[in-house]
Amino acid sequence: MKIPIYVVALILSLSSALAQTDTSIAKSGIPIEMLFPQGKSKALILSYDDGPREDRQIVALMNKYQLIGTFHLNSNKLGTQNYLTKAEIKTLFAGHEVSVHTANHPSLSNLSKIDVVYEVVEDRKELERLVGYPVRGMAYPFGNYNDAVVDAVNGVGIEYARTVDDTYNFKIPEKFLQWHPTVHQFAKAYFVEGKPDNDKKELERFYQVIDDFISTKELAVLDVWGHTWEMNNTSKWEETEKFFKRVANNPAIHYTTHIDLVDYIHAFRSLRFSVEKNMVYNPSSITVFFKKAGKSYSVSPGKMVVLAD
Ligand SMILES: [Zn+2]
Repeated sequence: MKIPIYVVALILSLSSALAQTDTSIAKSGIPIEMLFPQGKSKALILSYDDGPREDRQIVALMNKYQLIGTFHLNSNKLGTQNYLTKAEIKTLFAGHEVSVHTANHPSLSNLSKIDVVYEVVEDRKELERLVGYPVRGMAYPFGNYNDAVVDAVNGVGIEYARTVDDTYNFKIPEKFLQWHPTVHQFAKAYFVEGKPDNDKKELERFYQVIDDFISTKELAVLDVWGHTWEMNNTSKWEETEKFFKRVANNPAIHYTTHIDLVDYIHAFRSLRFSVEKNMVYNPSSITVFFKKAGKSYSVSPGKMVVLAD
């Protein structure tokens, strides 16, 4: 029997329509969305570089508002004029993260690979001796890096490395060794002396980013970086406190160190879902929160959870 070509076309289109309604195919498209710890949709990272003695003041302010910070330190500068002392690091930064910023703060892209390795490993080793835990992250001095630097840093066990390339967005970076922050604290206000109009405009720009973060309904990471030596007068410290008040005590925000967020994202990505996405196993040591079809779930370390359809 000869089947007209239009009948063949009809059968083919019907079979593909049927395939699309097959449940297993439909379920493969169910999105699983990460949530932060306690099912929160926002995470805040505050990160400060260089370890100047003004860090004492910002840690006191952060502790007052129950904020958590990551501090990128140069071990060979500690104990010299205007810097923190080695003896105070462990106590001062208890509850915060200490992270590598190289031993001497060079521009890494100008160095040979062995010198890059030396700068990172020497700093890491000394900071680990001071704080008593593995130091696993870093920030590039001057935000300076290239492919060879990233490769060297990766080779010595650094798990994230922050740049100074502000994104002005709240996305999770694709490459953890080129972790671009959201925004410099106060944006580009105070970059140039004697330009109060520019300072005002940049401050408004900064608070617009903060307010966008607070109001967004999307999954969002706000990563603000800076140096406490930049807060070199009373009004900048008052501005810092105003900023802290704006972001503190918000039940939608997960306050975290940089490395804890990295660990959490890895834990989420290591979840093992069944084919039908109705079961999930968490092989990590962290409780992970996520959303499936608009419903929130959590799965404890080493546990399996059955999910609603
Ligand atoms: Zn620096």
